[in-house]
Amino acid sequence: MLALFGSSGQPPAWRDQAACKGQDPERFFRPSHHGQQDAATVCAGCPVLDRCREDQIGWEARGPAARRYRPTGVVGGLTGRERHAVHYPASGLRKDAA
Ligand code: SF4
Repeated sequence: MLALFGSSGQPPAWRDQAACKGQDPERFFRPSHHGQQDAATVCAGCPVLDRCREDQIGWEARGPAARRYRPTGVVGGLTGRERHAVHYPASGLRKDAA
């Protein structure tokens, strides 16, 4: 499970419903296009995708710039490149981000 801890320091309750619960986190951090597609497929069927994406984008936005400039892995159905584009919409997709 990849989802983050909440502000209370405890995992949010929605994590119990996550499609990635109990899966190897490495599945979501493979740099290949095929690997990212596989992870995104898991996310696409996740009943808490919206909550996960919202929490992840918020966590990246609140942290140091490096957290949102170079996000990694597939979380909330978005690759690192896609989340970078959310934070920096004027820059377009970075070619070197995974
Ligand atoms: S959207 Fe993806 S990363 Fe987020 S909880 Fe669901 S399966 Fe896990």
